[in-house]
Amino acid sequence: MAEIQLRNVGKRWGSFVGVHNFDLTIADREFLVLLGPSGCGKTTTMRMIAGLEDVTEGDILVDGKVVNDLEPKDRDVAMVFQSYALYPNMNVYENIRFPLKVRGIDPSTHDEKVRRASAMVELDDFLHRKPAELSGGQRQRVALARAIVREPNVFLMDEPLSNLDAKLRVSTRAQIKNLSHELAVTTIYVTHDQIEAMTLADRVVVMKQGVVQQVGSPTEIYDRPANTFVASFIGSPAMNLMDGEVSGGVFRTKHVEIPVDAPDGPMTLGFRAEDASLAEGDGEISAPIYTLELLGDATMISVRVGGALVSVKADKSFRAEIGEPVSFSVPTEICHLFEAESGARIG
Ligand code: ATP
Repeated sequence: MAEIQLRNVGKRWGSFVGVHNFDLTIADREFLVLLGPSGCGKTTTMRMIAGLEDVTEGDILVDGKVVNDLEPKDRDVAMVFQSYALYPNMNVYENIRFPLKVRGIDPSTHDEKVRRASAMVELDDFLHRKPAELSGGQRQRVALARAIVREPNVFLMDEPLSNLDAKLRVSTRAQIKNLSHELAVTTIYVTHDQIEAMTLADRVVVMKQGVVQQVGSPTEIYDRPANTFVASFIGSPAMNLMDGEVSGGVFRTKHVEIPVDAPDGPMTLGFRAEDASLAEGDGEISAPIYTLELLGDATMISVRVGGALVSVKADKSFRAEIGEPVSFSVPTEICHLFEAESGARIG
């Protein structure tokens, strides 16, 4: 059992604030993903939970006990990093066994534990190989097995897939998801890849410049982004965003007019590529095609509206030439509205 509480946790170095006022309870067995661009404070947050970095404000609690002053080795957490940090002179078996030796676990149990952990990551046939004789994906699985073998209460994973190629990333991602379910441990996972976040997480924390922007399930974050930053960070392609002015129930820019249910004033309007549709006649957006991408299951059309590129997903059979005019309908109910100045969601 491991419930982790972060109570107004902060980290500063001199006057620079790396993490500001992080306040969240992570439930026992939850898979929590910290997501955000480079430098937003994800790794620092995780290192504070691991005890590798002191907190400068607030408290970290594990199962109700403050652990601020506990050494990393006393926190019962296992970390997996993007660099696998395997011992080159040890074979796979010895690498996986290493944490058991260090922690003085009864040697008579080692063999069974190592074999069980290596079976979970399908490394049974590679136990005698040295790290240099393994592929990147296999090395990452050794690192995973080495974390599993300790049977910790908490897994901390910092971009564990970032050194793998695209195909391996997908299969290892699935394996991590399956493992975390099977082992039923609390997992905190750091990534800047929104697809990893969406596919793995029970809840996602989106961060920007040390500040939490939104906490929610992948669906909540996708369907109701709290602000324009989250809206533009989640989804592929990102949400279309246009700056304009609402007056009399109509959102206007130089180039578009879309009926909305919002008070008058400057506003940013957003909609997702898959929510708009090609119009039969005149739609709310009309422009020449800028690019056309065949995705296999759909065709992505982009047009330029003022300075912004706007993407709309069309049927896979849609074909047209670059420069041909198209028209989209953007009904009120698919629109997301944000305050122009703060970027905060309205409604
Ligand atoms: P990335 O995805 O690039 O790893 P991140 O979101 O994990 O980024 P952090 O490593 O947590 O970001 O860093 C957050 C901020 O704190 C960055 O601006 C970084 O430069 C700064 N920072 C990290 N460590 C220190 C340090 N020891 N002294 C001063 N500033 C630091």
